[in-house]
Amino acid sequence: MRMRNPKYKDDVLNNCTFFYHKATGFSNDNPVHLEIGIGKGDFILNMALANPNINFIGVEKYSSVAAVAIKKIMNYKIDNIRILVMDAINLEDVLDPIVSTIYLNFSDPWPKKRHIKRRLTSPEYLKVYDKIFNGPCHIVMKTDNDDLFAYSLESLSEYGFHFNVVEYDLHQTEIPNIETEYERKFSKEGIKIKYFDATK
Ligand code: SAH
Repeated sequence: MRMRNPKYKDDVLNNCTFFYHKATGFSNDNPVHLEIGIGKGDFILNMALANPNINFIGVEKYSSVAAVAIKKIMNYKIDNIRILVMDAINLEDVLDPIVSTIYLNFSDPWPKKRHIKRRLTSPEYLKVYDKIFNGPCHIVMKTDNDDLFAYSLESLSEYGFHFNVVEYDLHQTEIPNIETEYERKFSKEGIKIKYFDATK
């Protein structure tokens, strides 16, 4: 998600006290869940508020967008969120194997064939995730996009994942769900939300 830099961007980034550093990390041994592409941060913030015994790391490529999320998170006194502003392809350089679940919410579909490697469920990224999981690999995905969903089912399956849950209309199920900004927008337009939960 590219957007114009908000006026407060530098101020917010310079004063953010919860960037993730290997040295500081978290002060407890609770499980660590990672969201890649946090956008404006509604999902990670509400997940962290609802699950105080889980640590959340949010990764976002664009600092303009991350600043919006960070500004929101700063309004709360919570110590179970850390943020990384970077491309997830380099996560291995920054994280030890500490992650138990990865969330991919409304990831960029990269529809063109020559951009397949950029999809967050391509083997290129799955290889990186392997390096940062601390046990069984667990990926949970939500998307509006049929093609990305079909591609991801195939890609993960070829990579050795099995699917615990596959749903083509998440909001018609009983699966507990915290909405993202894109999810609100797409479901208002009548688009069904696709969902899977996969383990390897
Ligand atoms: N999860 C949010 C935003 C979805 S848009 C929501 O559901 O509302 C996808 C987001 O992923 C964008 O903010 C984009 O900048 C980010 N993103 C895409 N590729 C990324 C990558 N390789 N590493 C980190 N963030 C990425």
